[in-house]
Amino acid sequence: MTIQDIQELLKTPQKILITTHKSPDGDAIGSSLGLAGVLKQLGHSVNVVVPDAYPKFLAWMEGIEMIHVFEDDAKAANELASEAHVIFCLDYNTFGRIGDYAPAIEKANAIKLLIDHHQQPDDFPNYLKSDTLASSTCELVYDFIEEIEAQQYINKGIAECLYSGIVTDTGSFRFSSTSPKTMRIAAGLMEKGVEVDQLYIKLFDNNRLDRLRLMGYTLSEKLKLKKEFNTAYISLSVDELDRFNFERGDTEGLVNYGLSIEGVKFAAFFRESKDSDYIRISFRSKGTFNVNEFARAHFNGGGHINAAGGRSDLSLQDTIIKFEALLEDYEAALND
Ligand code: 5GP
Ligand code: MN
Repeated sequence: MTIQDIQELLKTPQKILITTHKSPDGDAIGSSLGLAGVLKQLGHSVNVVVPDAYPKFLAWMEGIEMIHVFEDDAKAANELASEAHVIFCLDYNTFGRIGDYAPAIEKANAIKLLIDHHQQPDDFPNYLKSDTLASSTCELVYDFIEEIEAQQYINKGIAECLYSGIVTDTGSFRFSSTSPKTMRIAAGLMEKGVEVDQLYIKLFDNNRLDRLRLMGYTLSEKLKLKKEFNTAYISLSVDELDRFNFERGDTEGLVNYGLSIEGVKFAAFFRESKDSDYIRISFRSKGTFNVNEFARAHFNGGGHINAAGGRSDLSLQDTIIKFEALLEDYEAALND
């Protein structure tokens, strides 16, 4: 399917379903709501389904009430999938990333359009806009909106959604994925009304004291440096999280503190969870150490070269033992 075919398709009102990945982040929610806002104005009926709840720090986004959470009402989410004419898959490229919602989307007869920036997309969509060099899915959604000649529908609320995804996925325009084009799109979004200072306050100056205390505890007690491997890691058990009244999103970004240590090229964060029987892992790197490959090879995950995630079915303690043993195998690459 070409972009012209999509433009043709969108000339008549469609039942559209927008989907995004588990543990949705700023880019996932921002791209979904940004695109939803434009498609609604074009006269389509639009629903957004996320596999599980979104973090509270995104609850201010325009259109957030459009979101259905699969985990809260699987029946409704499955119906939306089977009724849809068009399904957008945003910020993910493999069904593994939408968890238990995958069967409904796989089975659905709808035309599937994928817009994403992760490595190694699966071969299921009718249309694929995949650019692993793009900073964020929001950047690609902005492109897509231009390609279907709908940029006049980007209002302030939509611009805030798209800008937020770019800000969160680039670490505030800091990661190497930030390109001149990223900056031009950000400028375009500012021209649509984004007030950057206000937006940063909404996104980042919203901590609970418990969250800051958890961060303090983690940095002082739980950050381990393996100097000979230029690696730092953090692990948190359910007990530790409970002590600080953990809420979803509280550990977002913690992994980056490991990476900020001088000389560290590889950082990992391991979190035990009450809601799942596996350990959730985040990996980050600097330079050429490829955490997408590392996560795929050893922890049933994936992502980008410098940011990936995965999981482990071992206990927290055994996961760390496995991780430390793997560091030995990667000693040469980590000392490159
Ligand atoms: P985070 O550590 O922030 O959860 O994820 C880092 C990056 O890796 C994100 O871009 C995310 O989409 C991707 N990612 C996280 N977990 C997984 C996973 O289990 N599988 C794959 N393929 N990608 C993941
Ligand atoms: Mn993203």
